[in-house]
Amino acid sequence: MKINPRFIAGGGEALTEEMRRQLRHAWPQCGIYDIYGTQEGIRSMECSPGSGMHLFEDLGIIEVVDECNRPVPDGNLGHKILFTNLYSFTLPIIRYEISDMVNLDTKPCLCGRPFRRIGSINGRNDDVIYLQGHTGGQVAVHPVQFWDVLESYSEIRQYQVIQENDGIHLSLVFEEGNEVVVDSVRKRLEQELQTLGASNPAIHIKPVANLGDRSGNMGKWKNIISNMNQSSL
Ligand SMILES: [Zn+2]
Repeated sequence: MKINPRFIAGGGEALTEEMRRQLRHAWPQCGIYDIYGTQEGIRSMECSPGSGMHLFEDLGIIEVVDECNRPVPDGNLGHKILFTNLYSFTLPIIRYEISDMVNLDTKPCLCGRPFRRIGSINGRNDDVIYLQGHTGGQVAVHPVQFWDVLESYSEIRQYQVIQENDGIHLSLVFEEGNEVVVDSVRKRLEQELQTLGASNPAIHIKPVANLGDRSGNMGKWKNIISNMNQSSL
């Protein structure tokens, strides 16, 4: 593509480090900014020269809370967001529950803007899967733990993680001829999950040509699915 953008903003899905690396490689002079927003009216965007995304707090009230709707202090990962929209009078939205798990930064930003910043988004809480821990109990595996490993392979174009009774099944779409990294991916994921305290999860990897249709009424790709009955863990 022969274009020369000055500014790229990524929204809709996570802008991963690997995507940033590839964008910087393609357009070294270009500013790259992440955007996070929701249909209900949350808006946030990275600034320059800061890090993290400033929430547009004049448009709504963002509460980061745990599973029981108790406030989670800035600097800690929440289980979900409760959002109150301050500008939509036709359809009032009050403490609307959003399943994204975010961590708000505690420090003021270098740019001087007063609005708080999202330090990290660990995916949606319905994308968390639970594995048996090697010391008993369950270990929560957040989507970011799969992203970190899988996005580091430029050979992998798309992935889907499905948890079944016999372990974790990964469908991977590779750049042509790059299936040779399968064993390396399996080892890295095993190490990652064991470091989290999971008890030797079986990982099955299947190279596929494509992942089929997008799912859900938003048309968003569901990267992580659990078909487990949690009580069986
Ligand atoms: Zn800033």
